[in-house]
Amino acid sequence: MYDFIIIGAGVVGAAIARRLSAYDCKLALIEKEEDVSLGASKANSGIVHGGYAGKYGTLKGQLCIKGNLMFDKLNEELNFGFKRIGGIVLGFSEDDLEILKKQQDNSIKVGQTDIRMLSKEEVYDLEPNLAEGVTCGMYVPSIGITSPYEMTIALVENALDNGLDLFLGHEVKEISCNDHFVVTTNKGSLKGKFIINAAGLGSGLINDMLGNHELTIHPRRGQYVLFGKDQNKLNHVLFQTPTEKGKGVLVTQTVHGNLMIGPDAEDLMDEVSTDTSEERLKNILKLAEKTYDAFNVKRALTTFSGIRAMSHNKDFFIKYVHDHAITVGGIDSPGLTSSPAIADYVLDLILSKHELTLKSDFNPIRNSYYSIPNDQVICLCEQQGQSRIEACLEGPIEIKTTDGVKRRIRAGMGNCQGKRCEAGVRKMIADHHQMDEKDVLKRTERRMPKRVPIEMIRNFNLDYK
Ligand SMILES: Cc1cc2nc3c(=O)[nH]c(=O)nc-3n(C[C@H](O)[C@H](O)[C@H](O)COP(=O)(O)OP(=O)(O)OC[C@H]3O[C@@H](n4cnc5c(N)ncnc54)[C@H](O)[C@@H]3O)c2cc1C
Repeated sequence: MYDFIIIGAGVVGAAIARRLSAYDCKLALIEKEEDVSLGASKANSGIVHGGYAGKYGTLKGQLCIKGNLMFDKLNEELNFGFKRIGGIVLGFSEDDLEILKKQQDNSIKVGQTDIRMLSKEEVYDLEPNLAEGVTCGMYVPSIGITSPYEMTIALVENALDNGLDLFLGHEVKEISCNDHFVVTTNKGSLKGKFIINAAGLGSGLINDMLGNHELTIHPRRGQYVLFGKDQNKLNHVLFQTPTEKGKGVLVTQTVHGNLMIGPDAEDLMDEVSTDTSEERLKNILKLAEKTYDAFNVKRALTTFSGIRAMSHNKDFFIKYVHDHAITVGGIDSPGLTSSPAIADYVLDLILSKHELTLKSDFNPIRNSYYSIPNDQVICLCEQQGQSRIEACLEGPIEIKTTDGVKRRIRAGMGNCQGKRCEAGVRKMIADHHQMDEKDVLKRTERRMPKRVPIEMIRNFNLDYK
């Protein structure tokens, strides 16, 4: 019998699992996919946002700023990669300046004190390679960048080291409750005294299973184009001032140095898929040129999309929905930033009704795969060697796909996108599991996303240039 069963191994479920693993309790994390971080936590902007991202008086406002401040310590302990490079919200008109001032007011109210308005000259001093046309900016030094899936993997690996049981490939189908919960999955059932629902897009459905019907989830997709590292000539995360016409798009470097452009916002009414579309990506690149027009479409590497799980009232939905169950749903942006603070918030909710004792032997440290000395290089583009890949395969979460290795050590994420190293990685996975190479898959999601062929992006005629 588990003391806590957490449903959903995205960054939120992972952060909660890691937080609870510091306490004396029997803990399970259930995930329907074959790896952790395959939902929204895989495909997002990776920005550790500032206080402007959550409105004062909302849970988002409260938890975003708190989460932001927790990243340095968390990264020191878990080594997933985090850089506090600062961000600028760019303005292009007098009207934008007024909107930025309102954003600054909101940020101050939620407790963000480091924000500074910038003149046009100050913006170009900080970012000499911006496109022409910027008139002002709002500078937020505490904005950071991280790798969302490496963070999720790190949280789960550390929780496993501290006693967590992880059930991958287990989709929750039904929950019943008498004196304890029985969680039925496609692969059998688990008994637990307390449920934490962190199922992302599925959190509304799980909430229904728990007998509460207050949460409705609206899926909202965002698409991106990722470019080579040579295309990044920027120092900061660059937002555009949100206006009535739209939120603008983000232009940023990733924590590993690639240039990334996106996302847009598309409400999905019918099929909920992470496909990408030519028309939308073209529009995203066009909008991005207002910020930065020095990128070369020929250096686009790949496209991807992620789906935000928006709640009915656009705020995070975190509350008791049963005496022994908490739903943590509707965690759209800035959920990555807020995730460590969400974990603390959930712990406080639990401690308000139940007693827990801290473990004397909790180990907060998890080492990075990049700390392993590099040897015979398998991935030439990203310079990742055999020993590091072996370490991933021997890691605490079983990996059976080449993308699983890619998310841990970037093998296959470089300029050739795995054309040269994928076969080598596949062979190592097959040898490790003593299986046939042809049975090693690239990815395991039930429905493969349809991505715009990269050649199409590279041949985009950006005739608005
Ligand atoms: C386009 C986009 C850009 C974003 N940019 C940012 C950003 O820059 N900064 C920021 O702070 N936030 C950002 N976010 C928000 C952030 O990505 C999310 O808030 C966060 O990833 C949510 O994590 P989660 O764990 O709640 O959900 P998920 O990562 O989706 O995890 C939920 C998990 O539950 C599993 N699950 C669902 N149903 C079941 C079931 N029945 N049984 C078992 N398992 C189940 C799913 O498979 C999934 O793995 C962005 C989101 C998107 C989509």
